[in-house]
Amino acid sequence: MTRVLLIEDEPGLVITLTDRLTAEGYTIEHATDGDAGFARASEEAFDVIVLDVMLPGRDGFAVCRDLRARGVTTPILMLTARGQLTEKVVGLKLGADDYLTKPFEMPELLARLEALLRRSGDRTDAMPDRFRFGNVTVDFARAEVLRGTEPLDLSAKEFRLLQHFVEHRGHLVTRDEALTEVWGYDDAMPTTRTVDVHVAWLRQKLEPNPRHPRYFITVHGLGYKFIP
Ligand code: CA
Repeated sequence: MTRVLLIEDEPGLVITLTDRLTAEGYTIEHATDGDAGFARASEEAFDVIVLDVMLPGRDGFAVCRDLRARGVTTPILMLTARGQLTEKVVGLKLGADDYLTKPFEMPELLARLEALLRRSGDRTDAMPDRFRFGNVTVDFARAEVLRGTEPLDLSAKEFRLLQHFVEHRGHLVTRDEALTEVWGYDDAMPTTRTVDVHVAWLRQKLEPNPRHPRYFITVHGLGYKFIP
């Protein structure tokens, strides 16, 4: 049974989504303002959260940020207004996993939800709670990275990219694969250059000597390989 928390204040959309998702076999709970949504999402276990940006009370960005700050790692699909590129960027920075622009077609929403659930399912199956390499400790449950005993400040995307490397340690990770798996369906923003930049940041933060990477190795013309 897959539990979806829908945080949305438009009654029409709540009804449409609830009907359709129920018909698809999901169990839907909903909250109509940001504070109630935050409370439910932090107290109960959901498989995925569909979160509108424009909400009464705490808005969707604040809900997302506060959930991540609390250590809630449930995948979040944000619903943004048409053409608001800044909304997408802000949402993804705050830790949302994907976004969908209103108005959207129902099959599109279903596809995004399935992709998020598949990704988080893969993750829980394959991932240890903690992973160590060199003097770096990655704590997946708490979304924390320590270098020695010092906590490192990684962005949500850096953390997700690191997670992907750990999951595929010892294997080639192409830039396209990283874009699909880490940046998801975000077609507006990232390019393969984005991947390079994030790998460079990971090296800065995690490599003993970022100029001569030992862990995050470039595979020329193809991508990267993480060798712990
Ligand atoms: Ca709304």
